[in-house]
Amino acid sequence: MKVFKFGGTSVGSPENMRSVMNIITDGEPKIVVLSAMSGTTNTLVEISNCLYNDKKDEARIIISDLKAKYAKVVADLYETTEYRAMGQKIIDEQFDTLESQVDGEFGPVKEQIILAQGELISTALVTNLLKENGHKAVLLPSLEFMRINADKQADLAAIKDLIKPILEINSGNDIYITQGFICRNIYGDIDNLQRGGSDYTATLIGAAIDSEEVQIWTDIDGFHNNDPRYVENTQKIDNLLFTEAAELAYFGAKILHPLTILPAREANIPVRLKNTMNPEDSGTLISNDKTIDGLKAVAAKDNIIAIKIRSDRMLMAYGFLRAVFQVFEKYKTSIDMITTSEVSVSLTIDNDKYLNQILEELDEFGDVEVDRDQTIVCIVGDMISEEKVFSKQVFEAIEGIPVRMISYGGSRYNMSVLIKSKYKKKTLQSLSDSLFND
Ligand code: ADP
Ligand code: ASP
Ligand code: MG
Repeated sequence: MKVFKFGGTSVGSPENMRSVMNIITDGEPKIVVLSAMSGTTNTLVEISNCLYNDKKDEARIIISDLKAKYAKVVADLYETTEYRAMGQKIIDEQFDTLESQVDGEFGPVKEQIILAQGELISTALVTNLLKENGHKAVLLPSLEFMRINADKQADLAAIKDLIKPILEINSGNDIYITQGFICRNIYGDIDNLQRGGSDYTATLIGAAIDSEEVQIWTDIDGFHNNDPRYVENTQKIDNLLFTEAAELAYFGAKILHPLTILPAREANIPVRLKNTMNPEDSGTLISNDKTIDGLKAVAAKDNIIAIKIRSDRMLMAYGFLRAVFQVFEKYKTSIDMITTSEVSVSLTIDNDKYLNQILEELDEFGDVEVDRDQTIVCIVGDMISEEKVFSKQVFEAIEGIPVRMISYGGSRYNMSVLIKSKYKKKTLQSLSDSLFND
């Protein structure tokens, strides 16, 4: 069975929800993962922030505006009075839950309940849309099978065990709708797979049921060779290797949650990116199939912190890097890029939660410097070819841009440069112009 995932814009209006219905009712049974309607999760974050700052009245106003928006969606979405009434009941119930988070003390459990409402509402509304139109659809609550472990990482073994009996009990349906993004943690509380996590839900479910293909439906015709939000004249890529797509997603290509590719690559399940607004387009196929050689795409990841440790102890010493890495391991902070010289090492992190503690411990090794507001620009493709040397093209393209770090050769598919974020747009555009648009 295939898994289809539709993002926020794809379910962002009654009209788009109807397009989703047309796409998924092609006669083949499938699991359909849905995001919240576009903008909703941002609004839910805003509500949480108000409550965190004890601005309860402000939170109530935002909740009531959001509820009015959904009342309108319900009125437009269904044709019959019966289904409109059912839709309004869904909205009333979910907003009762939301409103009941306002009183009393605010904390992480409440925050997660609030953030989950977007997906809970969109899936309930679309399931009823399908039913109103005579389709055999059922809602599978993802909170019953999506799990993360103590390290907040997806627990695929648990997901596999939990989803199978649920599918068996509900067999005989054509469309199995479920929520992206949300899950339960080891305490049994509601949690999530981080922003944009519905993509990851889809490939996790794909791997759990050994699906033949996962399709990620969004608002663009596939993976482009650069970020269309910053660069003009980007082009769609027809085929990407799992490795290439994984690097691009991890290094900032917003079209995919950073971890989306991992379960698919592990289980060798092709991932196809498709455009809900243009379903005829073949999109981008991500698989293990060998594709054309050469450079494929560029992506950028912001909010990077560079840390340089200079220490005479590093000179000719072994075990120094291990000692440095242990500090990051202790604080569960992953390192993205690393470069070394004779007596210093530079590395980057994107999570500053324990930065102060890390810096305090690193201070014992030598002089430590920290640069914030950095961006990793990642160039992906088959970089290391005997016939063609791509590094020259890359360096020519970024000439004049101050580069803080370069990483090349870690894998044959990736070259990364670290720059100040203020140079990001210029760097992306010059790379596009010289690598893809010549
Ligand atoms: P969804 O809500 O469907 O998950 P997202 O907004 O998360 O959609 O992802 C799609 C958006 O990703 C596109 O509209 C585009 O602006 C952005 N994007 C960033 N980098 C790329 C890229 N390399 N290729 C295609 N889209 C990209
Ligand atoms: N609704 C969630 C978000 O906006 C998850 C997703 O859309 O993938 O982050
Ligand atoms: Mg997304």
